Amino acid sequence: MSIVRFNALQETLNRKTIKIEEKEKRSVLFGKNVFNKHAMQQYLTRSAYESVMNAIEKGTKIDRKIADQVAVSMKDWAMSKGATHYTHWFQPLTGATAEKHDAFFESINGSLAMEKFDGEQLVQQEPDASSFPNGGIRNTFEARGYTAWDPTSPAFVYETTLCIPTIFVAYTGEALDNKTPLLRALQAIDTHATAVCKYFDKNVSKVNATLGWEQEYFLIDDALALSRPDILLTGRTLLGHTSAKGQQLDDHYFGTIPARAMSFMQDLEQECMLLGIPVKTRHNEVAPNQFELAPIFEEANLAVDHNSLLMDVMEKVSRRHRFKVLFHEKPFEGINGSGKHNNWSLSTFDGTNLLSPGKTPMKNLQFLTFFVNTIKAVYENEELLRASIASASNDHRLGANEAPPAIISVFIGSQLSKVLDELENVTKGKLSPEEKTDLKLNIIGKIPEILLDNTDRNRTSPFAFTGNKFEFRAVGSTANCAIPMTVINTIVAKQLKEFKVEVDALIEDKNLKKDEAIFNVLREYIKASKDIRFEGDGYGEAWEKEAKKRGLSNNKTTPEALKVQVSKEVIYLYEEMDVLSKVEIEARYEIALEEYTKRLQIESRVLGDIARNHVVPTAIVYQNTLLENTRNLKEIFGVEFKNIAKEQIELIMTISNHITEINALTIKMTEERKKANKFVGIKSAEIYCKKVKPFFDEIRYHCDKLETMVDDKLWPLTKYRELLFTR
Ligand code: ADP
Ligand code: MG
Repeated sequence: MSIVRFNALQETLNRKTIKIEEKEKRSVLFGKNVFNKHAMQQYLTRSAYESVMNAIEKGTKIDRKIADQVAVSMKDWAMSKGATHYTHWFQPLTGATAEKHDAFFESINGSLAMEKFDGEQLVQQEPDASSFPNGGIRNTFEARGYTAWDPTSPAFVYETTLCIPTIFVAYTGEALDNKTPLLRALQAIDTHATAVCKYFDKNVSKVNATLGWEQEYFLIDDALALSRPDILLTGRTLLGHTSAKGQQLDDHYFGTIPARAMSFMQDLEQECMLLGIPVKTRHNEVAPNQFELAPIFEEANLAVDHNSLLMDVMEKVSRRHRFKVLFHEKPFEGINGSGKHNNWSLSTFDGTNLLSPGKTPMKNLQFLTFFVNTIKAVYENEELLRASIASASNDHRLGANEAPPAIISVFIGSQLSKVLDELENVTKGKLSPEEKTDLKLNIIGKIPEILLDNTDRNRTSPFAFTGNKFEFRAVGSTANCAIPMTVINTIVAKQLKEFKVEVDALIEDKNLKKDEAIFNVLREYIKASKDIRFEGDGYGEAWEKEAKKRGLSNNKTTPEALKVQVSKEVIYLYEEMDVLSKVEIEARYEIALEEYTKRLQIESRVLGDIARNHVVPTAIVYQNTLLENTRNLKEIFGVEFKNIAKEQIELIMTISNHITEINALTIKMTEERKKANKFVGIKSAEIYCKKVKPFFDEIRYHCDKLETMVDDKLWPLTKYRELLFTR
């Protein structure tokens, strides 16, 4: 009898749902534990408040004396919320968040004590961060890293700690985190989008990128999760026969949320409210025990921080409810995996959405400008965009018939396609008054109506226009949104910069009117970027063939996908946009490859262990039972036994075959791993990808077969049906 599995199941059956009370309205809870504008107005002097607001809105520096004032007020505020400690909260290149707590408490002369927090501690810290990934940056420069306050993302109190969002950089200035390049990319998009906006509205002084992510996840009872070494160590199941019932009946999607999951969600949402994370939507997803949560969109930097924070909070709250949250992109074979759609748009400081048409022809042209430039940017940089979402875990999801393929394409719907097709016919150079009127009234003038009824959505597209924003759907559920957001904003910034140069040239050299010049450049962009537009079924094989003809990349694995990041063009792009330097790019590439290799190495070791130390011994125990039974039959029935024990004998032989295969394959896999480990970087990653990983499916096949043969009572690993349907 397999003790762990059955104890876990027993424990799960005895679980009680925690009753969560909604003591206060969500609107009252919202932002209570955030040092937001409201709290700052209460706690800061007028000059300190203005100084922080200027830093947030205009990026100005906060001087030292003011920082001291802010720190003291922040501490008083945090202590009023029960905080005893503070931490610089940052996002190192592990993709997760990091924190090191220090107490406000300080003793004076060993006898007196007080709570202290000053400007220096607020502004800069030096975590002992030597074991965060740095891709050789700090070794090369023999420099240490430090964290620095990012006032654009407000401090918050979580549990008893004041958390101060920070960037993490080397003393030589290189970024060691995901936030620094994001902030630089947001600066770039602000600069170049604002410049383009001025064609349409002279008063625009700032453009923000906006992000609304949708987080998918699985909830598994924690006793069951703990009973599976693969889930515990890799976040996914490395083996397990599919459950007879999976998602084929479509009975989970948007169904009634199971009671325990609901209680977790309510608890989580209340925590989110306190932390100012504006969560809005919750529902069941397609697979059993899969769910989704989405907020109201925010400025991208804040939205990225909020998603990282959310993932932390989800882990903590789930423990209270005796769940384990699985963020892995593909925790279970045979049912859907999880993504994190990134809804992206641009917004002027007064909240005008630049990817939404307006009431005047000029506003519609503005919409069209940003719309077409985004498509062109994606076309020019499709491979980099693919690289931004590459990871060992997302490789399982992309192209797996349920998620966008590894080919990046843009879906805009048939109506907008028609508009772009018509714009291709705009006359070169000067436009006649009739043509201008026609464009304004009949073509771009129709856009608002079209978008009101933008019903033709294509769920298979990795990058879809959904009415007033683009939705990047290929992002994986474990991803730190900063990475894809850095790429999108950088490539669109670069595109807008070029656009402005071209339009200005037509105005100055060719004497065209502003709108004529814009139509002329857009026409060429629409023609040039046509190949990235695809309205058909992105999951089909036909698209793979078609995409190949069009010259679009189709990098199915992470090592292939990442290569473009260190290409000459990409280095040039990042340097031109001041987002990443060559050193930073190369460091990140190293880190991403190493992470990939390590993940596969861990999976391979865990699989080897489970297969040989759990599955094979169990199969042998069962086989012995069969042997004993056969021997007994022979004793009683003599030569007749061969007929009577036919099934048993066949089973004994089949089990032997599977055991032999498992052992042989595991040994071969280990040999390949050893070869791979002799190398570093891309070489090692490639061997893991091409030589080690293929064994996973083969070994799994034999283990899963054994699962269907061996006595259920003996099977040590909690089964798929138990993981997915016990609630
Ligand atoms: P679905 O794709 O599931 O139909 P919704 O239309 O509800 O989703 O929106 C998904 C996400 O898109 C939400 O987080 C929402 O806040 C976000 N979103 C809406 N408008 C914008 C925008 N202008 N910029 C960025 N995100 C946006
Ligand atoms: Mg969506």
